[in-house]
Amino acid sequence: MTINYTCKFCGVPGTATADDDCPIQNIEAWRSWLCCNRCGAFQEWYRRMTAKIRHLCIQWATKRPEARQEARDEYSKALTSLTQTTALQVCRYYRVDYVWDYDFVAQLIERPDKAEFIVKAYEDIVRRTKLAKREIPQSA
Ligand SMILES: [Zn+2]
Repeated sequence: MTINYTCKFCGVPGTATADDDCPIQNIEAWRSWLCCNRCGAFQEWYRRMTAKIRHLCIQWATKRPEARQEARDEYSKALTSLTQTTALQVCRYYRVDYVWDYDFVAQLIERPDKAEFIVKAYEDIVRRTKLAKREIPQSA
């Protein structure tokens, strides 16, 4: 069976197929969970990248104070690389100009317990920039 849906992230219409003998009872509820391939790939990538950043921040947060000073540059460089990659992919997804600032890393170094919130806040700013331009990401 063919199921018409609207991507839950970008609003682009799409179609999905399911076996005719699929036991799904409530197609309407299932339909509301669907997203296009572009958004699905981005969400999966974003989830994995956030987990990498969170993992690094947990390592940083659990260092003894005397070991932190020595490790600060190493963590700063690793977080710079991860946040620059995150910024590049998020900006590509929302189709806005690349924006990255060292403050992204500084916030993670200062508040490693808030890693997911800080990454989400960055993504929210880029998304709002996109919405301010009143453009919707198009299917690739
Ligand atoms: Zn989409």
